[in-house]
Amino acid sequence: MLVGRMREFGTTVFAEMTALAVRTGAINLGQGFPDEDGPAAMLDRAVAAIRGGLNQYPPGPGVPELRQAVADHQKLRYGLAYDPDTEILVTVGATEAITASVLALCEPGAEVIVFEPYYDSYPAAIAMAGATRRAVPLRVDAGRFTFDPAELAAAVTPKTGAIIVNSPHNPTGTVFTPQELAAIAALCREHDLIAITDEVYEHLTYDGVRHTPLATLPGMRERTVTVSSAGKTFSATGWKVGWICATPELITAVQTVKQFLTFTCSAPYQLAVAHALRHELDWVATLRDTLQGKRDRLMTGLAAAGFEVLKPSGTYFVQTDIRPLGHTDGLEFTRRLPELAGVVAIPTQVFYDHQDDARRYVRFAFCKKDEVIDKAVARLRALG
Ligand code: PMP
Ligand code: GLN
Repeated sequence: MLVGRMREFGTTVFAEMTALAVRTGAINLGQGFPDEDGPAAMLDRAVAAIRGGLNQYPPGPGVPELRQAVADHQKLRYGLAYDPDTEILVTVGATEAITASVLALCEPGAEVIVFEPYYDSYPAAIAMAGATRRAVPLRVDAGRFTFDPAELAAAVTPKTGAIIVNSPHNPTGTVFTPQELAAIAALCREHDLIAITDEVYEHLTYDGVRHTPLATLPGMRERTVTVSSAGKTFSATGWKVGWICATPELITAVQTVKQFLTFTCSAPYQLAVAHALRHELDWVATLRDTLQGKRDRLMTGLAAAGFEVLKPSGTYFVQTDIRPLGHTDGLEFTRRLPELAGVVAIPTQVFYDHQDDARRYVRFAFCKKDEVIDKAVARLRALG
């Protein structure tokens, strides 16, 4: 039944692996969602908004309080000034923001550059637009996933319309350096490309590494659609409140599509997120420190269990190489892991077009209670 352009997309690996965890009772270090709530005052705001009658359609671009809070956040944190009335659009999570941007800005037949491993919604969004993806690999060099600037430059063709840039990067945990961002920006300027950035992990970086929005680089503000969302920053992945910052022309284009996808986004949660962006960044700083400790805890445990472990600078995720354990195919390995050790993880290779080197990598999430991490690690030790 399914249209041809969507036929390569089955059930997402996150749904498959979470279902596997539920079915087998395994510990779920697969899908990246925290097992503790966000700031209490934020939750109270949502409840109060619902009780207070904020239950009908909010304005299409988003409630003014949230657009203003996003504008203030971008200004204070990054020095980026956006007009909340014409340059900010609230979306149903980053997922809708990215899909609406691709649908609005990429013609059928255009090429869109993505880095692989890619977040799984990008290829689907590109296919929905009738565009074609061109994947540039991230490879491990000096302990982190990075790209070869020459390979990136070679991916640009006369048909290239846009590039999707995710940093901090899921699933590798790489935070692009200023040099890496400069190489991307130079290419965008040279070839007049639009950059769609996915910055949902902007606050979750470790060891003093800072996230830099691509829009802060010379010549990039006017050609970048900056996307973020509340899910990761405020541990509310089920709320699906996201946003876009861009020029009025870009925002108008994306909003034209967005209004027919969902028209608008859940009103009470928008108000709660506006509160959180204004008043809960100290809470987020504590979350970041806590997550860094959880990262180290999981890395130590995975190494003791025999995995080769790569250290992420951001996100919720640790990449491991499974070959020291005598396995070579991550998909096969993760499908058997519940039975082998009572744990669920994500095979990294499913996020690649060119899988060969990637089969060895498996992703584990550390956004879980310490006792859950410890229990998973104890089980994984049985593998050795
Ligand atoms: N981009 C990346 C890189 C993600 O990891 C996620 C979700 N976890 C999303 C986008 C989706 O964000 P949202 O839930 O706000 O749609
Ligand atoms: N972003 C989450 C992850 O990478 C999952 C999102 C989803 O389930 N689609 O694990």
